Amino acid sequence: MSAFETVIGLEVHLQLATRTKIFCGCPTLFGSSPNSQTCPVCLGLPGVLPVLNRRTLESGLKVALALNCRIQPALKFHRKNYFYPDLPKGFQISQYDLPLSFEGVLEVPAAAEAPAFAVRIHRAHLEEDAGKLVHKEGSRASLVDYNRAGIPLLEIVTEPDMRTPEEAYRCLQTLKHTLQYLDVSDCDMEKGSLRCDANISLRPAGAKELGVKTEIKNLNSFKHVRNALAYEIRRQQEALSSGGKVIQETRLWDDVKGVTLLMRSKEFAHDYRYFPEPDLVPFVLQSEEIQAVRRTLPELPPARTRRFMEQYGLSSYDAGRLTSEKQLADYFESAVQAGGVPKATANWIQGDLLAACRERNVEILDLKVPAAHLAQLVLLVEHQTVSSRMAKDLLKAMMKTGEAPEPLVKRLGMSQVTDSGTLQAAAQTVVQGNPKAVSDYRAGKRQAIKFLVGQLMARTKGQANPELAHRILESVLKEGA
Ligand code: ADP
Ligand code: MG
Ligand code: ZN
Repeated sequence: MSAFETVIGLEVHLQLATRTKIFCGCPTLFGSSPNSQTCPVCLGLPGVLPVLNRRTLESGLKVALALNCRIQPALKFHRKNYFYPDLPKGFQISQYDLPLSFEGVLEVPAAAEAPAFAVRIHRAHLEEDAGKLVHKEGSRASLVDYNRAGIPLLEIVTEPDMRTPEEAYRCLQTLKHTLQYLDVSDCDMEKGSLRCDANISLRPAGAKELGVKTEIKNLNSFKHVRNALAYEIRRQQEALSSGGKVIQETRLWDDVKGVTLLMRSKEFAHDYRYFPEPDLVPFVLQSEEIQAVRRTLPELPPARTRRFMEQYGLSSYDAGRLTSEKQLADYFESAVQAGGVPKATANWIQGDLLAACRERNVEILDLKVPAAHLAQLVLLVEHQTVSSRMAKDLLKAMMKTGEAPEPLVKRLGMSQVTDSGTLQAAAQTVVQGNPKAVSDYRAGKRQAIKFLVGQLMARTKGQANPELAHRILESVLKEGA
């Protein structure tokens, strides 16, 4: 079965969060009552003229620059003609031969057990969104809402550089994280702000030429992308290994049945009768305009990763993991600024805190543990006020109540016993009370000390510093010998 290699390329539609639509002044609020945010321009009435929204252009440029794309010196819009009830003009204003940007690259960082890789960006261009059809259950009529018509979109097209569904999944995650850094879209797949179509083909392993692809639409989450691609690999493999062929077509993912279904046969560029949009003249972007947008770019994950390694002494894996998401990286840096030791802070975030996020299906900022509280926790361990074992329980209590760790330690009587006088006395009691373990130990069964340490920990209600307890027991045992 491994005689085939999988090839995957992605097309992502990103709604740019501007206040007004791409070619008119209508607002873009999500969830407003149907057809309340429309005007003659976005309804495609005769005689109207589109005007390009400057902010849309800037947001698009921001993404293009962050994806290391080359910027088109002269921009042009085209009409892409097709008939569908959600498209009031009968054409979509899009870009064709002179897209906003092209030839970029997205660096996908290493995951726990998989190396980093790069995905080339073929192009990223501006276009307008279509309206939305609403099919009411039980009704034979369909309704249309044109609020979405004319919402600005950036279509990002990758080269076919991915080889597994998992790589496609990681590429999308990295892309989403990068877009979140840029603050140009809410990137919410449930609201349709981020939508993805996946293209996939198989070819004999080692072949240079690409196989015939199918395109899968209607993917509402990255998990669906991964599952749909895995299904499509099996389907195409079966077709090819039984001497059949793959037909170039558009398919839909049915998540309930877990299958892809034929939607329509492939359409080609000539089907759309592209021609230049006569109402939007081509224009030249000045390099100062591009530079001005470049200056607004934040520090992005690859650069932030390098800085975290240098400034905080983190490993490339830790730095990559923390900087992948802006809010994680910001949280880490706030905790360090509040005094948290960088390495320990990174470990707490990647360990207990992210585990709690996964368990509760929330973000780190929802955990009721502000960065300053984490910093205090790290310092309590650092100063041996609490053992790392106790700190885990302390964190659980912090997540429950939202309290700072220092008052909690006092309230719960949690401080670690590091006073050797107290431990010395307790150790003597333990030695006296457990003659069997003591004689075993003295007869050479060194393991027996573990039992005694356990007894000592129990006597101190788990509050002894375990290393200190071990050392003190050893010395008490030596004395008595
Ligand atoms: P189309 O003309 O069907 O839109 P494009 O060449 O524009 O095709 O590519 C659309 C997407 O499909 C891109 O992301 C591209 O990387 C990917 N792609 C193109 N050919 C293949 C193929 N043979 N197998 C897998 N993906 C492909
Ligand atoms: Mg396409
Ligand atoms: Zn409008």
